[in-house]
Amino acid sequence: MFNLREFEKKINGIETRRNVPMAQRTSFHVGGNADLVIFPASEMELQRVLRLLSAERTPYFVLGGGTNLIVADKGIREPVIATEKLKRIAVDGCRITAEAGARVEDVCLAALNAGLSGLEFLYKLPGSVGGAVRMNARCYERSTAEVLESVRYLKTDGSAHTLLPTDGDFGYKRSPFQNNGTVVLSAVFRLEPGDRIQIEAAMNAAESDRIQKGHFRFPSAGSIFKNDRRFGKPTGQLIDEAGLRGLTCGGAQIAPYHGNIIINTGGATAADICVLIETVEETVERNCGLRPEPETVFVGDFENAEENKRTR
Ligand SMILES: Cc1cc2nc3c(=O)[nH]c(=O)nc-3n(C[C@H](O)[C@H](O)[C@H](O)COP(=O)(O)OP(=O)(O)OC[C@H]3O[C@@H](n4cnc5c(N)ncnc54)[C@H](O)[C@@H]3O)c2cc1C
Repeated sequence: MFNLREFEKKINGIETRRNVPMAQRTSFHVGGNADLVIFPASEMELQRVLRLLSAERTPYFVLGGGTNLIVADKGIREPVIATEKLKRIAVDGCRITAEAGARVEDVCLAALNAGLSGLEFLYKLPGSVGGAVRMNARCYERSTAEVLESVRYLKTDGSAHTLLPTDGDFGYKRSPFQNNGTVVLSAVFRLEPGDRIQIEAAMNAAESDRIQKGHFRFPSAGSIFKNDRRFGKPTGQLIDEAGLRGLTCGGAQIAPYHGNIIINTGGATAADICVLIETVEETVERNCGLRPEPETVFVGDFENAEENKRTR
């Protein structure tokens, strides 16, 4: 049985906080408290945390920017490892090395300052480098993996490894860092010299496009469902065609301006969001014979057994 007090004694020197409201750490602004959040500030501290958790066989959750999460209203019992203190960004020639907790937006700005092209498509993608690598985040038909030269990561036992991605390691919304407890420490992005004015123009275009699509109008986690080629059209379009745009449950709503985004119009709970997700799943399955798969990550202690099955 995990003993929180004993654990805090053992990781003496590494910042921890108890009863942390996750609604303040997620872009959806929903979710209960995490019993314990750990804030390692270096690779060595993170290794120490993983070794201790591994010795106690205690599962944990890694928190990046919290922009792709649905945290249960009852909160999270397992220790949460936040990467926010690991945020160094270093430019060396045409390469940028960024620690997991660095904001993707800041890495894009560092590339612009250095006159390096290649990351423009990721500008204004919410969240951290670790989250983008883990989710293989994609925008405008391009994915994070395309610009990755290498990824340094820790396994559950704290051992450090470097992945030099080869074909097949990453796929649509898929990476080797899913469902196995690995923690991304840092990523090296391979870029090329470019014209600063053109780089900035491409970044501004990406930002304007997101604003125009309503990405920042309300708290959300971006697209809720993956696209699936078998449907023959984007999942958002299937949701629109099913007439579900604008559907509400409590403070949650399927965005009136985008079928694949659920928004928090004020006071939404994770349970409200899950009702809308299940409604979409059932309706689309009834209409098309296939069930759409959420891309958002469920974490914590859900009331509903179905949601608990989804947690990773
Ligand atoms: C307005 C809006 C627009 C969005 N647009 C897009 C888009 O265009 N394309 C897209 O792909 N996504 C989009 N998203 C979703 C989200 O921004 C991305 O998935 C993002 O990459 C998640 O990063 P994060 O740091 O917030 O991860 P989190 O939400 O904190 O975590 C997501 C998952 O990654 C894991 N994780 C986080 N850090 C690490 C780490 N260091 N090591 C191992 N695992 C880790 C977590 O455990 C969790 O499983 C959008 C979200 C919002 C709110």
